[in-house]
Amino acid sequence: MTKLFSLKGKIQNYAWGGTQFISHLLGEEPTTQKCAEYWLGAHANAPSVLKTNDGEQNLNSFLDSDLTAKLGADIANKFGRLPFLFKVLDVHDMLSIQVHPTKIEAEKGFKKENELGIPLTAANRNYKDDNHKPEIMVALSEFWLLHGFLPKANLTGILKNTPEFTSLLPIFETAGYYGLYKTVMEQSVEESNHMLQPLVDRILPLYKAGKLDKSSPDYWAAKAVDSAEDTSVLDKGIYSIYFFNIVKANKGEAVFQDAGIPHAYLEGQNMELMANSDNVLRGGLTPKHIDVPELLKHVAFEATHPNIMQGELQADGLERIYKSPAPDFELSQIILNNSDIYNSKSKTAQILIVVDGGAKVSEGDTVITVKKGESVILLANSSYQITSPASAVLYKATAP
Ligand SMILES: [Zn+2]
Repeated sequence: MTKLFSLKGKIQNYAWGGTQFISHLLGEEPTTQKCAEYWLGAHANAPSVLKTNDGEQNLNSFLDSDLTAKLGADIANKFGRLPFLFKVLDVHDMLSIQVHPTKIEAEKGFKKENELGIPLTAANRNYKDDNHKPEIMVALSEFWLLHGFLPKANLTGILKNTPEFTSLLPIFETAGYYGLYKTVMEQSVEESNHMLQPLVDRILPLYKAGKLDKSSPDYWAAKAVDSAEDTSVLDKGIYSIYFFNIVKANKGEAVFQDAGIPHAYLEGQNMELMANSDNVLRGGLTPKHIDVPELLKHVAFEATHPNIMQGELQADGLERIYKSPAPDFELSQIILNNSDIYNSKSKTAQILIVVDGGAKVSEGDTVITVKKGESVILLANSSYQITSPASAVLYKATAP
């Protein structure tokens, strides 16, 4: 059985995407169309397409035809499908502030909304499936994100030094993270506009004059307002920009988002690997549905000390694995120079994408040459080799 195939993903044209990065990566002519994500996986909404001897086939139906052989018995029995979704993201405008439920919470929430008869496609549906959605990302450029609540002393400093927020300081001191967040998220539109408008009036001119630094929440709050379509209502997500850690990940550095950690991608490009789920509870910077009581149930109201991971270089000196506690996926980076040979065996399916240079992948009698932007999939129990005529940077998605 052939175990190596070339794979083509699908572009998602969300409004927050850029117009250049993904086109350049894929070797296509950029247009004015926003290209936010490039999906590699078997998600039913946008399955990747693989080339077989019988022509092109959607990855999901290809895998379903013999899940045990193609994913390996362990993963096939445990997940019943390819457990991960692999993406390239080009974040031009910031994404919504969000949190993902745990597996148990997702199962409960999905069941409850089914019992209530809320259609899966309804705008007010929180749980699209019964799965958790941990995510790991590796920066492909300088990447900015919001990640968890600031440690107490830092948040106290922000509330003290942001004149519009001084009335929130005693709330934080007495009622903690939960009390503070609940207070602002439950404000009426009039109340939040009243508190945020003077802030916006103060920082927007500084932003437009290029006087704000990306390490300051003022920069991102002003950018959010500047790029908002509706400026009559100020998005409550602005509070989170001040309450959360603003994290910069340099190229090759990774951040893991576990269940309960509120987060938002602000700007840059990354490789993202996640569990196969669409369960997102939103807390602002979005026109989409926000269910505040449900959100409050799932946010981890505690200080987060961001863990920016460098990954662990393996004994071969070529592969760097970014470990996470998620059982659904494992992300790694492989860097090859001309004489390097990367050898590996796959326990389950693996998806590889070349983000720089070019490489040759061999498995048994199958040899596929991949250049920048091209991808392959290897099925379970393959034994394969990758070389490069000059140099190559690849990212690999699999399950541990
Ligand atoms: Zn997320």
